[in-house]
Amino acid sequence: MKIEDVYNEYDRMFASSNMPFIRCNTCAKAYYYPRTVCPFCGSSSIEIIKSSGTGEIYSCTEFNGGFYGIIKFKEGFGAYMDIEGNNIVTGRNIIIKFREISGKILPYAFVD
Ligand SMILES: [Zn+2]
Repeated sequence: MKIEDVYNEYDRMFASSNMPFIRCNTCAKAYYYPRTVCPFCGSSSIEIIKSSGTGEIYSCTEFNGGFYGIIKFKEGFGAYMDIEGNNIVTGRNIIIKFREISGKILPYAFVD
């Protein structure tokens, strides 16, 4: 798989309101940031999978009135993203929502 293929598949999944992640077929670990080789074991046998889109806030910071942080997903991977909603603190459950920014559909974490 080429890196453009990974980005294209991510864009396709975002456009249909699905949260993608990558699972390594060799060591079975999960990660989010688009890469063609597993960051844990170096294997290029990887698979792009649809996440449940649920998880919890692992860490967060407020900056200029917005919240950003690392979301730990049910499938075990982490992703740095925008967080919106009420009572945004570490440990709160989130669901993934999508919005268009500059013509691209992108995910963000929402706290109900
Ligand atoms: Zn691996």
